Amino acid sequence: MIVIFPLRCAMLPCKFSQQTDGVKCVRCGHSEITHHPPERVHAECMAFPLSDEWGHWVALFLATVGLRKETWNWIRRRLGLIEPCNCDGREAWLNTLGGRAVTAWRRIKASGWAGSNSQVDRER
Ligand SMILES: [Zn+2]
Repeated sequence: MIVIFPLRCAMLPCKFSQQTDGVKCVRCGHSEITHHPPERVHAECMAFPLSDEWGHWVALFLATVGLRKETWNWIRRRLGLIEPCNCDGREAWLNTLGGRAVTAWRRIKASGWAGSNSQVDRER
């Protein structure tokens, strides 16, 4: 079985940040010259999710093994479940969780508690 990596069909929107003359995606670097705020500009992202976007990584992994949101909702409908799955809600929750985990880890590392091979050095 050939697995085509679904990077193009991950449907990941660009994550724009405000620049002086427009907006720029923090993932792929795609920029638009516009007077609109970042949340009003939409584009399909061409890069992998950021390391703390756990929800997008899970969605990308599931799409790689053939389970996209549309497929999952189709299966649910066939099983008689009328309400659509809360995929987007779970994805957003996982992204938030990942962001909090990475922020907490950076804070711990910055405080020196778990930093720079101190445990390894003691064991030698
Ligand atoms: Zn992008």
